[in-house]
Amino acid sequence: MTYGDGSGNNDPLTSLDVAGHEMSHGVTSNTAGLEYSGESGGLNEATSDIFGTGVEFYANNSTDVGDYLIGEKIDINGNGTPLRYMDKPSKDGGSADSWYSGVGNLDVHYSSGPANHMFYLLSEGSGTKVINGVTYNSPTSDGVAVTGIGRDAALKIWYKALTSYMTSSTNYAGARTAALNAAAALYGTNSTQYAGVGNAFAGINVGGHINPPSSGVTVTNPGSQSSTVGTAVSLQIQASSTNSGALTYSASGLPAGLSINSSTGLISGTPTTAGTSSTTVTVKDSTGATGTATFSWTVSTTGGGCTSAQLLSNPGFESGSTGWTTTSGVITTDSGEAAHSGSYKAWLDGYGSSHTDSASQSVTIPAGCKATLTFYLHIDTAETGSTAYDKLTVTAGSKTLATYSNVNAASGYTQKTFDLSSLAGSTVTLKFNGVEDSSLQTSFVVDDTALTTG
Ligand SMILES: [Zn+2]
Repeated sequence: MTYGDGSGNNDPLTSLDVAGHEMSHGVTSNTAGLEYSGESGGLNEATSDIFGTGVEFYANNSTDVGDYLIGEKIDINGNGTPLRYMDKPSKDGGSADSWYSGVGNLDVHYSSGPANHMFYLLSEGSGTKVINGVTYNSPTSDGVAVTGIGRDAALKIWYKALTSYMTSSTNYAGARTAALNAAAALYGTNSTQYAGVGNAFAGINVGGHINPPSSGVTVTNPGSQSSTVGTAVSLQIQASSTNSGALTYSASGLPAGLSINSSTGLISGTPTTAGTSSTTVTVKDSTGATGTATFSWTVSTTGGGCTSAQLLSNPGFESGSTGWTTTSGVITTDSGEAAHSGSYKAWLDGYGSSHTDSASQSVTIPAGCKATLTFYLHIDTAETGSTAYDKLTVTAGSKTLATYSNVNAASGYTQKTFDLSSLAGSTVTLKFNGVEDSSLQTSFVVDDTALTTG
């Protein structure tokens, strides 16, 4: 590697960005190997300008501060102007600002322009900006403003694109795909960085815009909670953000005695008072974006507050239709399906034609009780494959407990269990509803139900 002298032999070509540029050619030739002609040649040159600029910013040298100008210290033009401008490459009189069919016919130091411009847009965004005393004004080919994702992320994405996804013949369209793949690998497809790559390339007339993720923070709803007075609770809230940095957790409506750790999201403590509350957890990320999850939390007392009981009438169907409201012929001793015990069961559907059967009853769950629903279910079917054609839905009031289908068919009965403690203090209708499509039967057979409190 040799360096020549700049204008009048006064400014040797050894400035930070030029040295970084030349050494980056070594990185490119040992990774993607971008061929030094056509569009791949422009990308090769731009890659050296991009990493040369990264070197200059990283060095943080007060006599050669970081900038998006290339060769501003070597005075190769003899009039103090830099060799190239990344915010608006055409300012050098020869480089292209954006991609067009035929841009690959330019000298590689001019066809690099669109990629240099893309890197500036990706790092800093469009429009006017002053950085380290230099004023930039970066346009976009379609006039749509784009937002930068920061130089560090832009450099990481370009390095991964170069070393993992580009090949010797990569052109501008391929560079967009490579950079999107790199952003997806580093930050995920639902990230501001991924959208930023798409929009920076759109700014140089390569590909369309990508909408940024609507919210930075996603909180997984833990579902209804039930706890007991005097018994310790531990519930970890799960959340993630499209932005990096720490998350902060807070909660409103927690049962008395419980608190949330603001940095870990762990809810812990020991409930002191029975009752049902609506709890909302809010998670904030480093940019101030928030996400929430709201769920009900029922705290029950033990012992004297609730009497152990089985609340359903005629739970095993042995008294025929007593206690249940059904469609025709559901509670039966028909030997076509075996009962789980005794001789009666509730047999929903099994006709092989469009048909709906149901069995329901209203039940009051006392306040302060822990309540558990159990039943035995057998499903057989003439359907095949993994498509749910015929379905059984189990509901308690407006709450859907489960949906089963022909896909769940199996020999024998399986016991199902659901916690209905969140419904304590209310009267709800427990309902089994089976819907069959126009062909091939599915039988949903329910037996030995129970709704127990304690
Ligand atoms: Zn070069």
